[in-house]
Amino acid sequence: MKGLVLDAEWKPRDGYLLSDFERQTGKAVTGSSVWHKPTLIVQEVEKPQPGPDEVLIRVKACGVCGSDIHFYETDKDGYILYPGLTKFPTILGHEFSGVVEKVGGQVKDIAPGDMVTAEEMIWCGYCTQCRNGFPNHCENLEEIGFTIPGAFAEYIAVGAKYCWKINEFAKVFGSEEKAYEVGALTEPTCVSYNGMFARAGGFRPGAYVVVFGAGPIGLAATGLARAAGAGKIISFEVSPERRALAQQVGADQVYDPRAVTPSEAILELTSGQGADFFVEAAGAPQVTIPEMEKSLAINGKIVQIGRAAQRVPMYLETFQVRRGQFYGSQGHSGDGNFPNVIRLVASGRLDLSPIITTRYSLDNVVEGIAQSAVRPAHDGGARRHGKILVKP
Ligand SMILES: [Zn+2]
Ligand SMILES: [Zn+2]
Repeated sequence: MKGLVLDAEWKPRDGYLLSDFERQTGKAVTGSSVWHKPTLIVQEVEKPQPGPDEVLIRVKACGVCGSDIHFYETDKDGYILYPGLTKFPTILGHEFSGVVEKVGGQVKDIAPGDMVTAEEMIWCGYCTQCRNGFPNHCENLEEIGFTIPGAFAEYIAVGAKYCWKINEFAKVFGSEEKAYEVGALTEPTCVSYNGMFARAGGFRPGAYVVVFGAGPIGLAATGLARAAGAGKIISFEVSPERRALAQQVGADQVYDPRAVTPSEAILELTSGQGADFFVEAAGAPQVTIPEMEKSLAINGKIVQIGRAAQRVPMYLETFQVRRGQFYGSQGHSGDGNFPNVIRLVASGRLDLSPIITTRYSLDNVVEGIAQSAVRPAHDGGARRHGKILVKP
């Protein structure tokens, strides 16, 4: 079968000390400090066979994620930009849906013909964090498309316990093809859902909700805020294309954060009260968090979902006098996230299909990743696409 294989040279940067774990497993904890000169090539690879507790899925759609872009783009020294856990060579792609073709002997709840999507985080279920109910912090984590083969391929074998059925999507979206496309949005949507509702505990119906960033995670957060009954949703995004998408999925007001002072716009739109619930999905907390602090409602919440490995100025006095709360969020597993998101989509109450802006074939997946990475200079170097899908 065909698959998009990423290979790179294992070449720790000068001064990066490999841990015993990295030496023994061949996994880099900080990928951007180890993997040099990546190559992405669609090539013939062996078709996987499902183990006893696995299912074999024929992939129907797989989204390009920001992390995939960070394997494609390198820094000036030739290292990948993705800073997380990685082991190469492997097949990329982790936001996918497909049809089950075969199941292992121990699989009970999934059958050939089922339409499914899957978690990307392969939590072990045995370590202390998993047993304590924190699968997103598993100590033995494998990640589909990062450390084990992913879904920019014709087939993928996945443990049945990570798969979720999306059969009902065909009814609400009118065709299986559309159902698979929307199904491929489940994983990133669950990242937003996990941050907003599992971690931060959500907001009351009618609340003022602000989302910084309208990439796929911010757009999913906007759609979820509408589905969850926000009273007013305000979105800040640099790219005009993405601002238009934010409006389509539920934002009442959209702004270019360079054209206004966000905190002033928020205070004006909330009659001086400030917003009840902030989502940071821009990955630029050094500029967004200070604006949130200045426009935080009493009892307001901030949830950090975007990634940015840097220190952020926070004036903690604000969190005291305004009874504020700050939450950090990572991952998408556990807490009913997948079944809840799937139920919302199946009910027709959450339709993120407008955020799918382009489709590529598997043969052209590298071009699809390159397109996702495009940053027009006139938009201050911001990405403009919604979600790009690859369909084998
Ligand atoms: Zn992703
Ligand atoms: Zn674990």
